[in-house]
Amino acid sequence: MNGFRYERTPIDEEAGARRAGSFAEILHAYTRDQAVLEAQRCLQCAMPFCVQACPITQDCRGYISLIAQRRFDDAARLTLLDNPLATVLCKCCYHYCEEDCVMGGRGTPIAIRHLKRASLDHGHSDLVYVPSAPRSSRVAIIGAGPAGLMAAWELALRGYPVSVFEQEPFLGGQVDTIPKYHLDGTELRRDLDRFRDLDITFVTERRAGRDFTPESLLAEGYRAVYVAIGASDPRALGVPGEHLPGVFPALPFLLAVNRGPDGLFGRKDRAVVVVGGGDVALDAARSALRLTASGTITVVYRRSRDRMPAGVEEVAEGTEEGLKFLFERVPVSIVGDGYVAGIVLRRVTEGPPDASGRPTTVEVPGSEHTIPCDTVLVAVGEKADLTGLPPELGLTPAGHPWPQGKRPGWMTEVEGVFASGGRSVVYAMSAGSRAAEAIDAYLAKKEGRDPTPRPDPFGGASRPGPPPGYGGPTWTL
Ligand SMILES: Cc1cc2nc3c(=O)[nH]c(=O)nc-3n(C[C@H](O)[C@H](O)[C@H](O)COP(=O)(O)OP(=O)(O)OC[C@H]3O[C@@H](n4cnc5c(N)ncnc54)[C@H](O)[C@@H]3O)c2cc1C
Ligand code: SF4
Ligand code: SF4
Repeated sequence: MNGFRYERTPIDEEAGARRAGSFAEILHAYTRDQAVLEAQRCLQCAMPFCVQACPITQDCRGYISLIAQRRFDDAARLTLLDNPLATVLCKCCYHYCEEDCVMGGRGTPIAIRHLKRASLDHGHSDLVYVPSAPRSSRVAIIGAGPAGLMAAWELALRGYPVSVFEQEPFLGGQVDTIPKYHLDGTELRRDLDRFRDLDITFVTERRAGRDFTPESLLAEGYRAVYVAIGASDPRALGVPGEHLPGVFPALPFLLAVNRGPDGLFGRKDRAVVVVGGGDVALDAARSALRLTASGTITVVYRRSRDRMPAGVEEVAEGTEEGLKFLFERVPVSIVGDGYVAGIVLRRVTEGPPDASGRPTTVEVPGSEHTIPCDTVLVAVGEKADLTGLPPELGLTPAGHPWPQGKRPGWMTEVEGVFASGGRSVVYAMSAGSRAAEAIDAYLAKKEGRDPTPRPDPFGGASRPGPPPGYGGPTWTL
């Protein structure tokens, strides 16, 4: 026995049986003592693999060290130094850092994300970000999701007046669709409260392509525009019967569930089929389970269980809560007389690999069978909605569902207009951060000055940078 504790200090959680039927948060916060115990397991590696794996270079090694010393106020400040949406991320980040934590090689990785939450829960986290001296160049951002909010923070810290145009009446983008058993819905407001002294104006219910365009914003006097509109247009199944009442795309379903207690279809027993195998499908299925006390929720996915793109934790928790899974099946049609009565599925097997190396699916003739159900939730991916946006921007996505500029710094085909997004909250924030750097460099060049590195967000004299030993990112956007 060498004194290392390889196993994680347990994180208390709602029991599986109690979870179905309740949107209560699953994970319970660490107490101060539990957090200190867990933080003291960290080896404080000279080369912090955890930091290198984090798309926003969060100095997690640093806040863990401070928690281990019971310095919770300092830990909170360090967390918020590079992470303006930390209250959101401490509950929903896919914790890429933990995958690279060296403790994972011998036991369980340090609970880096949960310790982030401990730093904010037990330290003084009601801090306020401080802008630099004001600049004259105004910047417009379209979309108030994580990418747009991160870019707004980066630019406003550098002194730029920023206007964020958002089509919805609320901020946060897809963060608002994350189920309440992960995020209770207050987190984003707590994070944005720290923005209160920054020169950021939020203009809601204004849609690019309908009320204005990026070019019209440039004509109004904005010196640069960042298009951060994500990908929120649900893809359809493309099978007969999809128009029937009782078929819902997963994203509006999840949004409605977060808005009202009963979502789109009220609380009653239902037989729900969810089509898809990603995190959104699992969120939709687990939310449906919480609305239908003794109904059945079946997830239908076209590949095998081990090829599901959904996170391992989501699948394990969903199974524990009572989800059923049908693998290697594709929908053929949705049937019903005026309302959904069933979904016809066909079996598939694995075929030769496609260009990306993933096996193709080969349909098995004559294997059709019908699953009776009264509700179908469709979660087969999203795409960007470019309605009304000028084609000369060249925003058509390539290789990812959100629009991204194809010139250096993600500039689009129109000078001064930038566009990007990301596959998760922290990746979108990283994209927003990079876009803000590119916009600052673009404006600096026009104004004949050097680009501005990110200043100390709390107004200090020093400029925060990567922590000692940092060897560069181990991820790509
Ligand atoms: C159900 C669900 C659960 C998820 N769970 C997690 C999770 O647990 N952890 C995680 O890390 N990630 C999760 N994600 C992914 C994550 O939310 C996204 O990757 C991230 O929000 C993308 O950020 P973004 O800023 O690029 O785009 P978005 O979040 O989509 O934000 C884009 C914003 O632009 C606005 N907009 C769009 N078009 C226009 C227009 N024409 N004019 C004005 N405004 C416009 C939209 O209304 C939106 O507010 C989840 C996603 C979904 C759908
Ligand atoms: S933001 Fe996410 S990836 Fe980065 S340190 Fe926190 S949990 Fe890890
Ligand atoms: S990799 Fe793991 S053990 Fe090493 S500093 Fe990071 S959290 Fe600590």
